[in-house]
Amino acid sequence: MIKTPYINPFSNDAKEIVSKLGQVENLDKRNESLINIVQHTRGQNLDDAHNLPETFKQLALSRFEWSLFRKSSEASQKKYEYLFNPDIYEYDVVSFYLLCQAVAIRYGPDSHETKQVLDCEEDIISQRLEILKSEPNDFQSSLLRKALNQLIDTNSIYWTDLKDVLDLGKLDINELLLSNGKVIIEYEDFIEEYGHLIHNRDPRTMYEVTAGVNIKSKLLLGLIRVYTKKYIRTVHEMSKRMVEPNPIILELADNIKEVQQKAQSLKYAGPGSSQYIDDKPVNYEFEAFPPCVRKCLNGIKSGGRNDAIVLFLTPFVSYSRLCPGIFARQEQNIKLSDVDPSLEITHNEIIPMIYEAAQSCSPPLFKDQPQEKVNINSKLGFGMHTELKLEHEGETQWYTPMSCEKIKLHMPELCTPSVDCKKIGNPITYYNRKRRLMKKDKNKQVNDDGN
Ligand code: SF4
Repeated sequence: MIKTPYINPFSNDAKEIVSKLGQVENLDKRNESLINIVQHTRGQNLDDAHNLPETFKQLALSRFEWSLFRKSSEASQKKYEYLFNPDIYEYDVVSFYLLCQAVAIRYGPDSHETKQVLDCEEDIISQRLEILKSEPNDFQSSLLRKALNQLIDTNSIYWTDLKDVLDLGKLDINELLLSNGKVIIEYEDFIEEYGHLIHNRDPRTMYEVTAGVNIKSKLLLGLIRVYTKKYIRTVHEMSKRMVEPNPIILELADNIKEVQQKAQSLKYAGPGSSQYIDDKPVNYEFEAFPPCVRKCLNGIKSGGRNDAIVLFLTPFVSYSRLCPGIFARQEQNIKLSDVDPSLEITHNEIIPMIYEAAQSCSPPLFKDQPQEKVNINSKLGFGMHTELKLEHEGETQWYTPMSCEKIKLHMPELCTPSVDCKKIGNPITYYNRKRRLMKKDKNKQVNDDGN
């Protein structure tokens, strides 16, 4: 029997579990019942038994670890199967709230850590829903109905009620069945609205194709994210009035940081770090910029301003400052905040450099096309928004720098190759190679001067 807290930590049952928790000190004590569930989870790898969670706090950290490592071999070795055992729901709910409190109190609602906890919850619930797909459709649908109805009345939702969810960018309004502004979610509403139009087809199948489990799942994930964010913001505000936060929560916040750093070092431990192709922020070396970039930074005086600034310069300026070794990495699908968690470098150096180049165009790009600022944010991975905010990250991808071949094809006016352009296929490769050569020259100079 699957209980709603397993897929909705804001359900009434979940709140009851938390209210019955008792002493906070118990959060860091060995819990035999939790250990039993973890060890008896089907398929659980027990080779590394001493690393399995034995306390609420350890379980909270394990959830966070799974989310950060899930694409790496660590998670694929069935180390975290217990997270997908429905019997764990009571412990899971408490550990969810612990994680939220730790990031709310220590890092704040707009931090990178909060975003990672939001992603973590979405990933876990999403994976659970994926596993539930092996169950009959009716079962999934009624479980989702139960979970959703503790957040919103699924027989009476208007699209305007979903503004916060739609703003997340993961559920598109065009995916929703609307009737006079009302969102059709449940089967009985579907039949009432459209039943008379369906002939010679199975209405249930029609419902599943146009709404059904898929929309319910997306709605649930969106609402949980909105609720979690609100909860973290509330805890953060309340914590300002606290005399001293609970040391267990503070310790968990420190552990979160450690896991985050471990994940980063694993993620960025790629080949070539000794070859001057860094995968972490490095200061700009303007003398190493290729001719095309220099030309663009001086402003485009003819047509093609938009593509030059948005498609060509934005990826180059961002990657060359934050992760110039992007093409040497095995995993190239990274987020900008992985390398600039507070977005400080992005706001203080990258955006100003792009805007300055846009201003140098004739006519200045934003004068007649201010919407290009939104497109720049989009190419940095922050969706189609006027403001570049962490909460929108992931709605679009962080574009990698264009190859020389594409530049020559689509923006030939930018490419005026120098001798250093031989043997390279991308301006960022030019940049890395040139920096290496410049360093070598500098070392030689020092040695010569020393002799
Ligand atoms: S060859 Fe490549 S790096 Fe050199 S100017 Fe042309 S586009 Fe830029």
